[in-house]
Amino acid sequence: MEQDPNCIFCRIVRGEIPSRKVYEDADVLAFHDIQPVAPVHLLVIPKAHVASLYDVAPAHEAVLGRIMAIAGRLARDHGADDGFRAIVNTGRVGRQEVMHVHVHLIGGGEPLGPMIARKGH
Ligand code: AMP
Ligand code: ZN
Repeated sequence: MEQDPNCIFCRIVRGEIPSRKVYEDADVLAFHDIQPVAPVHLLVIPKAHVASLYDVAPAHEAVLGRIMAIAGRLARDHGADDGFRAIVNTGRVGRQEVMHVHVHLIGGGEPLGPMIARKGH
């Protein structure tokens, strides 16, 4: 499986950095975000290193589909049973900080703010 020796999420996959895992299968890992922004804040990642949505190849379609397929169950099982957001920050404009594709699952408390604040509102 493709891995990047210096990537922090690849290191979590390899067990070199601890994480609070909530789900794992052959291709997918989910764990608690270290700096949660809501009562439920999980990260779901492909175990293979894919830097960003810009770098997705046809070979990644199955694992990305699997991530979306388990997102609802993961969110609900962790207490976000009244809605949540699945967010994939990408690149500079998207303010992606960790260059290994990850889906944030965020919810579990009061309704979140607007998806993106509109200028002048
Ligand atoms: P992004 O801006 O979408 O790249 O978000 C990266 C996320 O990874 C942030 O929410 C961080 O809190 C989270 N994060 C960074 N390092 C770790 C780690 N070692 N364990 C869990 N979450 C992490
Ligand atoms: Zn990686």
